[in-house]
Amino acid sequence: MVGAGLVGCLTACYLARRGHRVVLYERRPDPRSAAPERGRSINLAISERGIDALRRIGLDRTVLETALPMSGRMMHAPDGTLGFQSYSAGGERAINSISRSDLNRTLLEASLAMPGVQALFEHRLTGLDADSGRMEFDTPGGPVTRTATVVLAADGAYSAVRERLRLPGGVEVTQDHLDYGYKELTIPARDGEFALDPGALHIWPRGKAMMIALPNPDRSFTCTLFWPRSGPGSFEELDTAERFEEFFAAVYPDARTLMPDLADDYAHNPIGRLVTVRARPWHVRGAGAVTGLLGDAAHAIVPFYGQGANCGFEDCVELDRCLEETGDDFPAALALYGSRRKEHADTIAELALENFVEMRDKVASRSFLLRKRLEHGLERLLPGRYVSRYELVSFSTVPYAEVRRRIARQNRAVAAVALGIVLGVPVAAAVTTGLLRRLRRGGA
Ligand code: FAD
Repeated sequence: MVGAGLVGCLTACYLARRGHRVVLYERRPDPRSAAPERGRSINLAISERGIDALRRIGLDRTVLETALPMSGRMMHAPDGTLGFQSYSAGGERAINSISRSDLNRTLLEASLAMPGVQALFEHRLTGLDADSGRMEFDTPGGPVTRTATVVLAADGAYSAVRERLRLPGGVEVTQDHLDYGYKELTIPARDGEFALDPGALHIWPRGKAMMIALPNPDRSFTCTLFWPRSGPGSFEELDTAERFEEFFAAVYPDARTLMPDLADDYAHNPIGRLVTVRARPWHVRGAGAVTGLLGDAAHAIVPFYGQGANCGFEDCVELDRCLEETGDDFPAALALYGSRRKEHADTIAELALENFVEMRDKVASRSFLLRKRLEHGLERLLPGRYVSRYELVSFSTVPYAEVRRRIARQNRAVAAVALGIVLGVPVAAAVTTGLLRRLRRGGA
């Protein structure tokens, strides 16, 4: 397994449970003794798909112990007015803010506690012959070569393994970079307490840009600016402390008062890139080895649905299922896994891009609020029959492509009702009755 990040470690757990011997090769130092990197998505939201994958291997409780549930979005208007929108109709469901480094450590420790799992840190893959499974690594002691009959790559969005599979007849890859970057900032605890409501994901929607904040167990918030890379209000334009501070205080005034280290964070934290990676196929079979891609290495997506890791965790479950179905025949299992997961990974990639527009621009609009109220009303009226897209993505394990199809059917039904209302009461009544009947039968 190349990469001992979130997906690599969870996959190692699943493979070890099946009795396989796993060696994790990780380019970074051992996270159990090293400090997390500055500005690298300190926390992330884990929802039902991720929890389901953790639950199947008995890790959900441990992971959720330190999680902070967020049951909705808290909108921060430019004048400081707050508006809360719950994620589910009853307000009872929540996504969970989790420390990335804690989660990685928990998964690493869980994998190493299983028989047959070993981790080698400061091993950066620099070469791979997919035909023979021969891998080359840079290590502090010099280059090292290893060979494996099964090479699994969970080495992230800029996967070194994937790069080496891009031969003629190998893996086709497209990488679409958003014209936006991200930078992390901090709202520290105030007098030992959270400075904002920790039960919500905070959003400062500002049209073409936005900031979000997720709570941390130490009562701080990690904020992420999603700004254009160039043009007005961009990282490129706001390149001096004075320009940045003046702009930030004008556009995010309520947050400014809570951020004593703002200038330092802005000056020192890196600007991250946002990329969508599409690859096909997700495995390559050689004469002596098979190589497969998992997690971001197979399908990196932009973070606006909070689904990248959740989707990667689903990969682990599907690979496990395919191994079960094929009697642990790795080439057959990897082919099956790729054929089943690809459509869903492509769908969540699109949904995540669409959600960026929703979060930065639409959430503050009246029509959006009206739509949310209508959605929640229908959810209450037709429990289990009408389910919003957010609910299906975040609080279910319905495959992503099926979510898209189901939402299209629901939207058509709702549009028919709206048309009925426009056409007049008798027609509306007939259409509504028909819709309710269809929804009750499960037609939507
Ligand atoms: P990674 O976590 O990137 O791990 C890859 C590992 O491989 C790393 O440990 C790396 O050091 C190692 N590696 C890389 N190259 C080599 C090499 N050559 N040799 C050896 N080892 C190597 N997802 C969510 O579900 N919810 C969220 O709220 C969320 N928020 C996000 C916010 C931001 C700003 C970003 C950027 C992403 C977010 N994501 C979120 C996505 C999530 O972080 C990724 O989908 C997830 O980390 C993918 O896990 P992975 O194990 O596939 O890759």
